[in-house]
Amino acid sequence: MKALTYHGPQDIRYESVPDPMLPGERGAVVRVRSAGICGSDLHIYGGHGFGGGAGYSIGHEAVGEVVEVGSAVARFAPGDRVLAPASVGCGRCAPCGRGVVFLCENFGEGGVYGIGHALGGCQAEAIAVPAADMNLVAIPDGMSDDAALVLTDNAPTGWYGARLGRIALGDTVVVVGLGPVGLMAAASALIMGASRVLAVDLVDSRRARAADLGAIPVEGNPRDEVLALTGGRGADVVIEAVGADATIGLATDLAGRCGRVSVVGISQSPTYPFNLLLAQLKCLEFTIGMCSVQAELPALLPLTTSGRLDPGAIVTHRFPLEAGPDAYALFASRADGVAKVVLDLPA
Ligand code: ZN
Ligand code: ZN
Repeated sequence: MKALTYHGPQDIRYESVPDPMLPGERGAVVRVRSAGICGSDLHIYGGHGFGGGAGYSIGHEAVGEVVEVGSAVARFAPGDRVLAPASVGCGRCAPCGRGVVFLCENFGEGGVYGIGHALGGCQAEAIAVPAADMNLVAIPDGMSDDAALVLTDNAPTGWYGARLGRIALGDTVVVVGLGPVGLMAAASALIMGASRVLAVDLVDSRRARAADLGAIPVEGNPRDEVLALTGGRGADVVIEAVGADATIGLATDLAGRCGRVSVVGISQSPTYPFNLLLAQLKCLEFTIGMCSVQAELPALLPLTTSGRLDPGAIVTHRFPLEAGPDAYALFASRADGVAKVVLDLPA
């Protein structure tokens, strides 16, 4: 089959790779109909991936159709229309039992697709899905493929970030970083009862897109503007969706007294110059983590089918899979109003 593979910084190739094999009696094979490019894929694209070496297929967001299931799969059959959550778990260990799939203890089954050689990437014609009953979700009738695709990772991660921020009714929430995850965090915060969401990003078109979702774009210096808009108090909750030291520092600055800072951007810093004095004086809460997609979907699927959340709205660009290298270049450039990039496969 064909897949996008990583060979080095800015070197993504569309090439032939081995067909996925059924990963045991609990596994399934899914023919991919569309795949997303995620902000975290840009870490790999930029040459600072997650230790996976090179030559592996990439991507961790897919929707498609089940084509094969193992004998122990109870909930799925060939022909089912499914989304594959980006977080993969064994379904048997204690963290999986609690829904914290990202912390699955069974190395080899748990993890993420497309960050190394262990689990093949989703930007491919097909994927092997371990423990299918745990790692596939049926797409509700009437839900678009685009909505389902954003529900594999970006929407749950944004929702999780907002949830960790423990938004109370009427809170003023700031979202720092308005890529797909930040946009979904902004939409989530409004659903959770924020009185307003102030949207911070350097790129004009990203602030405009957040405004389309009901947020208030912060023009000018975010520190000055957020203070001005909150009567000098700062925000109740700040959700950070970039992962860079500078933006995490900004998020900490923008939180007011007893504020809560929730970081879901992927940090690659083993150390960080955290201003403990400032945090203590403000009585800040600081949370950071990785989303277990399966744990968030019970809320997000009905919010999407009811129309209160529209994950598909953030899709701005689509390419055929073979144009993947161009799609990566566009997404990395942040040009042309790009938010979510989808790779389509022939039916
Ligand atoms: Zn992702
Ligand atoms: Zn597990």
